[in-house]
Amino acid sequence: MTISQDLFSRAQTSIPGGVNSPVRAFNGVGGTPLFITKAEGPFTYDADNNRYIDYVGSWGPMILGHNHPEIKQAVLAAVENGLSYGAPTEAEILMAEKVKELVPSIEKVRMVSSGTEATMSAIRLARGYTNRDKILKFEGCYHGHADSLLVKAGSGALTMGVPSSPGIPEDFAKHTLTVSFNNLDEVKAIFAQYPDEISCIIVEPVAGNMNCIPPEPGFLQGLRDVCDEHGAVLIFDEVMTGFRVALGGAQAYYDIQPDLTCLGKVIGGGMPVGAFGGKHAIMDYIAPVGPVYQAGTLSGNPIAMAAGLKALELLSAEGLHDELEAKSKALCEGFQQAADTAGIPLTTNFAGGMYGFFFTDAQSVTSYQQATECDLERFKRFFHLMLEEGVYLAPSAFEAGFVSTMHSDEDIQNTIAAAQRAFAKL
Ligand code: PMP
Repeated sequence: MTISQDLFSRAQTSIPGGVNSPVRAFNGVGGTPLFITKAEGPFTYDADNNRYIDYVGSWGPMILGHNHPEIKQAVLAAVENGLSYGAPTEAEILMAEKVKELVPSIEKVRMVSSGTEATMSAIRLARGYTNRDKILKFEGCYHGHADSLLVKAGSGALTMGVPSSPGIPEDFAKHTLTVSFNNLDEVKAIFAQYPDEISCIIVEPVAGNMNCIPPEPGFLQGLRDVCDEHGAVLIFDEVMTGFRVALGGAQAYYDIQPDLTCLGKVIGGGMPVGAFGGKHAIMDYIAPVGPVYQAGTLSGNPIAMAAGLKALELLSAEGLHDELEAKSKALCEGFQQAADTAGIPLTTNFAGGMYGFFFTDAQSVTSYQQATECDLERFKRFFHLMLEEGVYLAPSAFEAGFVSTMHSDEDIQNTIAAAQRAFAKL
């Protein structure tokens, strides 16, 4: 028995499923999750002292690699002054100013403690601001686990929301409309059906929770136009894409301005942080200036602000995002070539520092339906073969992969060589 196996069976007696967030349990791939003891640069180490080239990066935030020495130093310096005050600090202003500088569509920003809080609060704000109840989201997009957002689409277009989890009353879920990502016709049709009832569209501008699916040309602009036409708020959930796809997020990469933006993970440099921000007029609709209530005891926590500020400062380095994208591209091209050589049908997607690969005969994957039709069994086997090779991929076929500035050319080449051996065994 490995130490991870031993820890996992012990964990299950006191933690539901042995984990504090479901996907960590390896449900998507089977087997025993690795219990991590430390992480440094591009590597994570498990309790059995195996080292892995890590493409999970704490599910996104580790763009600068794990345990960056300058972020660590910023945290240690902040700790000297206490862990939390629940009162304003200058660090929060510096953080807000930095976010505004990097993401110009954000005129005011409120810090929270997770991505879920960011999206939940942005939705409440959009509903309060427009005085409308319905929201529109896309099948396969994940926006955290607030009740209104934990609604999966049914099989077809224009699907009315139904609870995807017990505990979400039908009366809440019915206000969440879901349509297909990358399908503007469905968006237009549902707005035609409910012309004055939809408060907002919330979208991952590059979908990263059904593997990695970039928007097709014109899709995001189309959402912008529909929102303008119907007085709805356009919310970009950039919890994953923010500061990763480009310094200014996917909105800079594709040059589309949303009304509100949700940020998370990355903005705390690995600490539990999130944020939502956007136009003055909308943001001033929240308490204490406006009527929509939103709050948080640990919001703007000084340690988290110190880590996040340092991370954003380092991420602002000239050319960093071009380098990140080059790494994603090299990885995707390497995987593609290796799969072609082995005769394994595969296609890849990438945008900036995020990427995805799909076991499918399709030439490209642009929809949730295509993503779910891929060969999941083959993915599972590939995942475990890569793990044996010392490469830690996201343990699910429905998650994007992430590169960091710390992945060297050698790490990428070693990963591709591992993939070659794995494909040959599939
Ligand atoms: N939005 C997106 C796009 C995400 O990827 C996630 C988390 N993976 C969330 C929201 C929720 O963030 P958190 O897990 O920090 O609540």
